[in-house]
Amino acid sequence: MMHNAAFKALGVDAVFELAPLEPADVPVFFERARGPGWLGFGVTAPYKQVTMTHLDVIEPGALAIGAVNNGVRRSDGSLVGFNTDASGFISAVEANDFSVAGKPAVVVGAGGAARAVVWALLDAGAESVAVANRTRERADALARDLAEFGSISTMSDEGPELPRALASAAIAVNATTVGMTDDDVAFDVDPLPPGALVFDLVYVPPDTPLVKAAIRRGLPVCNGMEMLIRQGEIAFERWTGIGLTAEIMRDALERWLSGPDGSSTA
Ligand code: NAP
Repeated sequence: MMHNAAFKALGVDAVFELAPLEPADVPVFFERARGPGWLGFGVTAPYKQVTMTHLDVIEPGALAIGAVNNGVRRSDGSLVGFNTDASGFISAVEANDFSVAGKPAVVVGAGGAARAVVWALLDAGAESVAVANRTRERADALARDLAEFGSISTMSDEGPELPRALASAAIAVNATTVGMTDDDVAFDVDPLPPGALVFDLVYVPPDTPLVKAAIRRGLPVCNGMEMLIRQGEIAFERWTGIGLTAEIMRDALERWLSGPDGSSTA
């Protein structure tokens, strides 16, 4: 919906279509995507890893994160995979006039999105990242896999360690699904210092309990919608060479979220 709004608004003769795939169809899909007329593709769970085995080039960020979620077809029919979770996250942070360089960060969650966020924070120069997760072992595995990119410590999302890390964090990120379909928060905003940016990756609903709690405390906030829009903008520019589509995509997303489909099925 976001991409199609931008194609239409900019007069690009292209369409972004959903292609439901069975695992056995994946190789055929990527052979088709090499054909003339294709600009690129997006992939989502559970195909972000297997996609990597069907591409000609995987960009360094996607390689480090271990997942591709978008790709572009080059004129010779070869396919280049990249990851917009990381670049979309940083672009959304920067859109808030915030820089993570030299600052300590906290990320709660250790799934696919958390991997992208931790890598993006370290790649953007964060001083350190504390990763808290319900399943501590998953946070430990993330820290091992990304250790070469910077300083990562791990902890459980319960107990005294997380509030201690939050007390000195410049940015705190929810990269769990908490707040999507429940009224919980992934972490308590009270220990955060004044001015710390609270970033919630959840985009439906846009005003999660965490976002509301951060606003109540007077902290700067960024929600998952901004990251989703920035991801769309980055992929669109890779496919078409046309940038600055965020406002078109924001408008399309807001209309969709306020409509009957968005509010009930997202
Ligand atoms: P995932 O790989 O399934 O990971 C889910 C994470 O949530 C894990 O760390 C899991 O902990 C944690 N979790 C789930 N239920 C929990 C609970 N009740 N209490 C505490 N922790 C809980 O999912 P993902 O792909 O990383 O996505 C995570 C979130 O990011 C989703 O809300 C997704 O929509 C959002 N996201 C947003 C964007 C964007 O553009 N805005 C992009 C990507 C993802 P365990 O390891 O203990 O299970």
